[in-house]
Amino acid sequence: MANLKSRLSDVIGDRTSKVLADAFAITTVGDLLRHYPRRYMVRGELSNIAELEQGDEVTILAEVDSSTHRPIRGRKGGILEVVVTDGRDKLSLTFFNQSWREKELKVGLQGLFAGKVGIFNGKKQLSHPDYQMVPDGADVDSAVDNFAGKFLPVYRATAKLPSWKISQCIQMAIASLDDVRDYLPEQIRIAHNFPTLQGALVQLHAPADLDHADLARERLTFDEAFLLQLMLVMRRNELRKLNTISRKTIKGGLLEAFDASLPFQLTGGQQDVISEIESDLAQPHPMHRLLQGEVGSGKTVVALRAMLAVVDSGGQAALLAPTEVLAAQHLRTFAKLLGPLALGGTLESGDKATQITLITRSQSALARKEALTLAASGGAGIIIGTHALLGEKVEFKDLGLIVVDEQHRFGVEQRDALKVKAQQPPHLLVMTATPIPRTVAMTVFGDLDVSTLRELPLGRQPITTHVISVLEKPAFLERAWERIREEVAYGHQAYVVAPRIESGSDESADMDFLFGLESADIAAVTELAPRLANGGLKGIRVAELHGRQSADVKDSTMRAFAAGEIDVLVSTTVIEVGVDVANATVMVIMDADRFGVSQLHQLRGRVGRGRSPGLCLLVTTAAADTPARARLAAVAATLDGFELSRIDLEQRREGDVLGANQSGTQSHLRLLRVLRDEEVIQAARADAVQIITESSDLATLPVLATEVALMARDAAIDYLDKG
Ligand code: ADP
Ligand code: MG
Repeated sequence: MANLKSRLSDVIGDRTSKVLADAFAITTVGDLLRHYPRRYMVRGELSNIAELEQGDEVTILAEVDSSTHRPIRGRKGGILEVVVTDGRDKLSLTFFNQSWREKELKVGLQGLFAGKVGIFNGKKQLSHPDYQMVPDGADVDSAVDNFAGKFLPVYRATAKLPSWKISQCIQMAIASLDDVRDYLPEQIRIAHNFPTLQGALVQLHAPADLDHADLARERLTFDEAFLLQLMLVMRRNELRKLNTISRKTIKGGLLEAFDASLPFQLTGGQQDVISEIESDLAQPHPMHRLLQGEVGSGKTVVALRAMLAVVDSGGQAALLAPTEVLAAQHLRTFAKLLGPLALGGTLESGDKATQITLITRSQSALARKEALTLAASGGAGIIIGTHALLGEKVEFKDLGLIVVDEQHRFGVEQRDALKVKAQQPPHLLVMTATPIPRTVAMTVFGDLDVSTLRELPLGRQPITTHVISVLEKPAFLERAWERIREEVAYGHQAYVVAPRIESGSDESADMDFLFGLESADIAAVTELAPRLANGGLKGIRVAELHGRQSADVKDSTMRAFAAGEIDVLVSTTVIEVGVDVANATVMVIMDADRFGVSQLHQLRGRVGRGRSPGLCLLVTTAAADTPARARLAAVAATLDGFELSRIDLEQRREGDVLGANQSGTQSHLRLLRVLRDEEVIQAARADAVQIITESSDLATLPVLATEVALMARDAAIDYLDKG
């Protein structure tokens, strides 16, 4: 007898095992049983032939209508053409030199046929399809297992192994199974009215009826969510058990001086999050917190306060930023907000003051050396950097807090690479660029506690967004430049964003947002900037900014823009995240349909940051009634980042939704869809928390513990592979 861990080749033949291993990496009985059906065909209900499209790999159920055999002129053998029907439409099956098949493909019999739909003489056909005939009444005894039931599962198959052969293998595997030990705790199984694991596997592959199949699928979907949540809850508990230095806020320190000099009142939301963070930092265990918030909700100042609290207690804080532009901006913002408090080690400074330093890949060797020294000696309390922070040579005296800004650009690996540079387990604050739906946070960042900033600072002006269709209303583009001229005349500034640096180039680092087809005339920064400077924006100070410029050029351009010495910045998405110039009021996004929904929301968050309302114009050549236009309309219709991120995620593949953080667990998630299965995930989370409260290391549930460990192991292996 076999169990789920048994080698498949012990149960079905070596040859078939090898095909399954090659095609689907299936090596054990359990792997095979987790090759779930995509759908079911009902015996007697023929497939709709009209729906088949050329090029599709199909498995259909149809009835043999006629068969003819004709010789090929001048050659031996002949062509067998069998026409099958669904009662309405017909499809021909052709076989060369296989006239003997006529005996199997008897008129009036039903069968499963699999192959690639081709067109010959204007008619749909399958050439040399695989097939299996449904036995007629007389043949019942010889009926193969998978025709025993009314519902025929359809599997992802290969040319070497059609769906029904996979079905046969699965039936053999199920027949060979000893009692399967169920890892789901009995109490949970019963509370949800779920079948046992064995029952679910049997019903999914050979359902008595579709209700049973649905229930089986529900249970197995729940299992995936439950195991993942257990892993995350356990990981979170493990992290909580670690000991570290508590970083209590102190009286009369840097933080207090900073608060006193802050030029604005913190929002209620900011205050709430700040007290959550302060109480976390005061614990002798490391904080692991996700701070998510609406674009422009003021996450940076919250993070800075946390960093100052750690500096006050004698430690250091590192801020990991996704781009050099953003890292440089953080340095400027912090220096401005802290004033003399950031001038530690100089004459102007008070005794509380600290230093801020920057570590990036493209800085000069001298600047780098200085920064490294400041980080290692503890002279700098705050170290801001890009990926360069993760470099081997970067050392800290006492790294107490890691802040990861705009987390969507980083994976767990990067966080961990920084963590190992700390003497004690550091506190961790992770910030997302745009808000994410609750269950996504729960799944992707389920080992973190979550704080959410929903409100924008008071007095923030709304952003109005319009779609400009160049095809339908070409004159409106001219109007866009006019709007920029008007704003500049008021003393305001503007962004023009283009998807490309130069025509024909692709800014490959940012290619993930390119949805549609390539077209030759996508707006490019280096062409648009001079064209505007000599045309629509003549007489206005226009500068360009893109990823191929040196860090110095980028930095000085950003500085000049922030200082109001440049009116219009023509840029790629290097300004996407975080860039903060309150005087900018208009953004024109060229070929806006090339960007994702959340990305557009993030981009337009660059305007309307000050006291004047923001205007965002989405320029597109996409035709009306296309999905691209629907996305743009959605962005124009709402300023709710949660809603937009949901729309955005719904268009992604599941793997992209999970992102770098959960890539290792993806192979365990076959049925679960993070957005669709919100309720399942919430229920699973609640159950996982409950179980862990009862048995923190699952000591009383060894079968479950093994299953969770397996998932954790794959997550870790994936991590090592990448590292
Ligand atoms: P995000 O959450 O998108 O990262 P930022 O942290 O860049 O947003 O904040 C956006 C702008 O709002 C910054 O200029 C910041 O100084 C300002 N800001 C933050 N908090 C407040 C507040 N409570 N009142 C007024 N302005 C604020
Ligand atoms: Mg930010």
